[in-house]
Amino acid sequence: MNMPTEQAAMISADEQAQTQETQAPYDKSDVTLRDRLIEAGILLDTGEDGLYGRSEVFEDIVERLNQAITMLGADQHAEVLRFPPAMRRRDFEDSEYLKSFPNLAGTIHSFQGNDRGHHRLLEALDKIVHIGEEEERSDDWMDQQKPTRLVLTPAACYPIYPLVAKRGKLAEQGAIFDAFSYCFRHEPSIDPGRMQMFRMREYIRVGSPEQVMDFRQKWIERGSLLVGLLGLPFEIDLANDPFFGRGGKIVADSQREQQLKFELLVPVATPDRPTACLSFNYHQDHFGELWHIRQADDQVAHTACVGFGMERTTLALFRHHGLDVEAWPAQVRQLLWGDKASLIEQGLANLGNKA
Ligand code: ATP
Ligand code: ZN
Repeated sequence: MNMPTEQAAMISADEQAQTQETQAPYDKSDVTLRDRLIEAGILLDTGEDGLYGRSEVFEDIVERLNQAITMLGADQHAEVLRFPPAMRRRDFEDSEYLKSFPNLAGTIHSFQGNDRGHHRLLEALDKIVHIGEEEERSDDWMDQQKPTRLVLTPAACYPIYPLVAKRGKLAEQGAIFDAFSYCFRHEPSIDPGRMQMFRMREYIRVGSPEQVMDFRQKWIERGSLLVGLLGLPFEIDLANDPFFGRGGKIVADSQREQQLKFELLVPVATPDRPTACLSFNYHQDHFGELWHIRQADDQVAHTACVGFGMERTTLALFRHHGLDVEAWPAQVRQLLWGDKASLIEQGLANLGNKA
């Protein structure tokens, strides 16, 4: 069940060679991508690190990237499912996310007091509403905020597993889903690639270990194809999730040892450390066990997902091709604004995968 790492690395080197000519030189001294994007009005500053507005040009790219991903996965006949960026608290509790990433989770609270409580809230609020940015604001008004039954979605695939479980046993061929959602992670940062709210497009495979591993390998190849066509330099590398706490290191080491997570990394805003724009995750039977997802033969289902970071990939395009989209390399323009289909079909044919 080992991941053919060398093969993945070879694809990456190959694609890089193909795209070398279209790459803009990467200026290592430029660490102000965020400032440049805000100044150009491409991202809108809200005053909070990791929370940005998106301009028309930014959204246009996200949308077109999304279309390219759909085309790349057309043969998967995935079931398209869309959820709002929240999930049932119960499902979230059962998912064990809090065991691994309590620090990243976002819960949704709401006022659940009475009239008297409302007065108290307004009084507390009165004391802070007009004070300056630099002054410390009391959060007394939040005393009466109580948890709702919803939490923010941490990854686009999370709402899918409980849903699959409810449907009963899988068919022989397992199942493939297509998800897209804003996600929340409490990781404020000045790195524009590390947002608190961002979008993830995912394909999710549920089935036997073989089906799931084939899927992940296929998507490492296809993800590499896409990023190569976008003229971005990249590498595929073994990775781990940022598991919390003292025990976290052991879990992360074991995740690496078992080669469960790969990332497609592109230099974006941190020159010393490339950024994960795509992730390829094999969860083994973790979600299958948790949610009691069964294969046709009654065995516990395995799962894997490929996640496309929509904002990170868009930022990478601005980083490498410049802020003027009209001046981007012809192939990149064709993929986003022109005849995507022929580029993708050709690319898939070269991989030996038919669209
Ligand atoms: P990182 O290691 O950089 O924290 P990750 O590998 O934990 O990211 P995943 O949980 O695998 O990320 O999420 C899937 C994809 O979502 C990533 O490949 C990335 O493109 C995107 N993503 C993750 N976290 C963020 C974030 N804070 N801001 C923007 N995009 C993100
Ligand atoms: Zn996922």
